[in-house]
Amino acid sequence: MRRVSSSKSSSRAQLAERALLRIDGKPVAVAVKLNPRARRLIVKVHPSTGEVSVVAPTKRSIDHAIDFARGETDWIAERLKQVPPTVPLGLGARILYRGEEHVIRRGEGRRTPAWIDHEDGNRIIRVTGETEHAARRVVDVLKREAKKVLEARAFYYAQQLGTAPKHVTVRDTASRWGSCSTKRSLSFSWRLILAPPFVLDYVVAHEVAHMREMNHGPRFWRLVEELVGNTEKPQAWLREKGSLLHRYVPRSLPGTARAPAIGTR
Ligand SMILES: [Zn+2]
Repeated sequence: MRRVSSSKSSSRAQLAERALLRIDGKPVAVAVKLNPRARRLIVKVHPSTGEVSVVAPTKRSIDHAIDFARGETDWIAERLKQVPPTVPLGLGARILYRGEEHVIRRGEGRRTPAWIDHEDGNRIIRVTGETEHAARRVVDVLKREAKKVLEARAFYYAQQLGTAPKHVTVRDTASRWGSCSTKRSLSFSWRLILAPPFVLDYVVAHEVAHMREMNHGPRFWRLVEELVGNTEKPQAWLREKGSLLHRYVPRSLPGTARAPAIGTR
């Protein structure tokens, strides 16, 4: 049995180990995940990041899981072909920021390593320093902006519900855009800063509403609508274009940096 990743099932699985398989003549890392709730072995290819994983229900079944994945290499290769190509974030690359295309260019005359340049109608992300570090610096500035905006929006919406989050953390999660713990800790993907503001706002309002309603019942949806109005438009955007936000990888030149950590904490 095999399935394409769904956000709910993958979020419960824990990474147990990594195995290397030969697929289409190339080595591909396969994450072996443990999930006691899994009823059988499942091979998945994340549709936007291309992360290959196999879920095993018990530690004893790990070897069997790897063998199982080895038997599915044709299917995995077929799925990997459908993953959108990655965009390395070097100088000259184009990237979405707040839903608008920005170009990465060299910057001068500031102390910060990278910044968003909106002066004179620009849509540029400026980076200083050595070219090989450009991608890393772009990701750093985007994560910093993401943290600032996500935190501000979370407190803004929470205040409207008469509450406040305990922590707001920003991560690079492939499986979900946001989450809310029972202890009022909110967590978001930094990549939401790449999406248009109405999409980021919806995800934040959704998680904030969970601080009041830990379910997806009618009362929950009423709260989200009170906070952001229409929910269908941002949901459709995430469904149709969400995978595009995972294309960008913090790599300047091919082969000079590590592959990004995807799909795991
Ligand atoms: Zn939810």
